Amino acid sequence: MLSNYPQLRYCKIQKGKKAPFEKDWTNKPYTWEEIQKHIKSEINYGVLCGYGDLAVIDCDNPELQKHVEAVLPATFRIKTGRGGMHNYFFVPNLQNKIILTTKLQDKEVHWGEVQSKGTQVVGDGSIHPNGNKYEVVAPMMIATISEEQLMAAVRPFMHESQQSDENADWEKQKYGKSGIDMINVKEVWGTLGLKAHGDEYYGAHPIHGSESGMNFWLNPSKNLWHCFRCSAGGGALSAIAVKEGIINCSEAQKGTLRGAIAVQALKAAKERYGLREIQQYQEIEEKTEKEEKLMLWEYELDNYKEEDKEWIIEKLIPNCSVGVWTGKRGTFKTFLVLSAIFAISSGKPFLNKFPTRQGKVIYLDKENGVYVMRERKNLIKKGLEIEDEKLPVGFICFSPLKIDKQRDINAIEELIVAHKPSLLVIDTYRRGISFEENDAGKVSWLFVDILRPLVEKHKITILLIHHDRKGEAQGDEMDMIRGSSDLANYADFIMKNERRGEMLILKQLKMRSAPEIKPFEISITNKEDVSIRFQAEGEFEIKTKDQRCAEILTMWIIKEEIKQFKTEEAREIAFKEGIRKQNFFRGLQLMVDKGFLQRGGRGEYLIISKEGKIW
Ligand SMILES: [Zn+2]
Repeated sequence: MLSNYPQLRYCKIQKGKKAPFEKDWTNKPYTWEEIQKHIKSEINYGVLCGYGDLAVIDCDNPELQKHVEAVLPATFRIKTGRGGMHNYFFVPNLQNKIILTTKLQDKEVHWGEVQSKGTQVVGDGSIHPNGNKYEVVAPMMIATISEEQLMAAVRPFMHESQQSDENADWEKQKYGKSGIDMINVKEVWGTLGLKAHGDEYYGAHPIHGSESGMNFWLNPSKNLWHCFRCSAGGGALSAIAVKEGIINCSEAQKGTLRGAIAVQALKAAKERYGLREIQQYQEIEEKTEKEEKLMLWEYELDNYKEEDKEWIIEKLIPNCSVGVWTGKRGTFKTFLVLSAIFAISSGKPFLNKFPTRQGKVIYLDKENGVYVMRERKNLIKKGLEIEDEKLPVGFICFSPLKIDKQRDINAIEELIVAHKPSLLVIDTYRRGISFEENDAGKVSWLFVDILRPLVEKHKITILLIHHDRKGEAQGDEMDMIRGSSDLANYADFIMKNERRGEMLILKQLKMRSAPEIKPFEISITNKEDVSIRFQAEGEFEIKTKDQRCAEILTMWIIKEEIKQFKTEEAREIAFKEGIRKQNFFRGLQLMVDKGFLQRGGRGEYLIISKEGKIW
């Protein structure tokens, strides 16, 4: 039989022995013709593996043999002197011998080997030291199989593929309470295109496919799946996570299904595979996950450095985060955000100061519409001197998509997958949600279950444009953000812009990943309604309310070219801006002290400086 294969090589073994006796036998290949003389006198000989792509699956254990016969094509087979089997295959490119052992409760079980380069198997007709003969039991052609096919066949007998077993156990332990094990991997994956063997299934991986058509293994009775290409697998939950695209096949490893990823997979299990309850689990998981991430041992604190944060806009907008940009109406908020977007999409610095990382942007506009957005973006582009460039900024005007509706989120996610933006802008947050904005539970859910998983999965930043409360100009800045205070708690960063006369002020109210920068002023250059340009100026000193009042009155005086005024007139102006009575009078006094005003009679003030210098 072997004489049919001129590519095979042989080695010399003495009568009644199993091992070659010549030194350097692996590099002394004899052809079939050359070995005949030796066989005549000594009977025993070896077949060199690795030559002519020969690999032999040497099965010591009948279970492995049964498996090999079931999943691999029929081939030339020899029964050994000890009753094991040698299965001959041609396996192109196989490099190493594979030892087939697994561990069962720390006890090693030896199944056999795949003999390859550098090894030999005793040939048929040889006599074992125990007197038994090596006999051909399947006088067939030697089958050719791919390495992947071979690995698929033997992996269940290798220690590493037990990993899937362990993964499945781990999933069961961690998520068993949710009833996840009631869902079978067979239902998740389906058996279309798979071949049944006993109660197992083999075939091509349903997601990433297979060259050999044999890299995927399902064991419904153990509720277990395994991918031989990725050396990955597990139970039902990881099957769902891979099938639904939440993780890649190769990520199906013990420990991957945690936190937001697990929540997403459980949700999919609930929505599409009939899992009953995930609520209780969700809360526990979030807590443990957060704490695990947050904990540092005391000695770790000494050397702890905030890892280099990637920025979309340096110091202002971090990568992979959810942030809020807030401000009152009429404070150029949309213009500033547009200016940030065009800085990002063109790679130019924002406000002519903050470097950006170039990327795509998707803008979900819910308030302005095509006409308004076109006008604004053209003003901005002109101001940045990029009016002739085509930039990767996608607008969805009057978008009906809500960020708290699963169907809409899926649509948004499809957009993200298709275009891979680095920034997604929702204008405005309030119109993007359908729940009551003071509902703290819903806000928390939105961040933890929807936005955070999106951000982590796709490595994008989501920016929510939001409004401040109307009216009151007093109090903590964070409290002025509309809606539930949980919005501010969950956001990774909060920016706020204000208008002060001809200047804007940008404040970073919160920055989770870096020290906050001080508020700074932004000048506006508006050229005859054809371009608008924002430029970062110096730091903005936080002024007392008295100073703020003086500033408001000064602006008013300059703008209206006032020479004198009555206290009541000024008071009306100041009160409109939210200045209180006592700050108003101290503000006036400040202006007098600076030599800008002089008291006249009967509650009148005269302006004595024409320079109009603003504090
Ligand atoms: Zn795979």
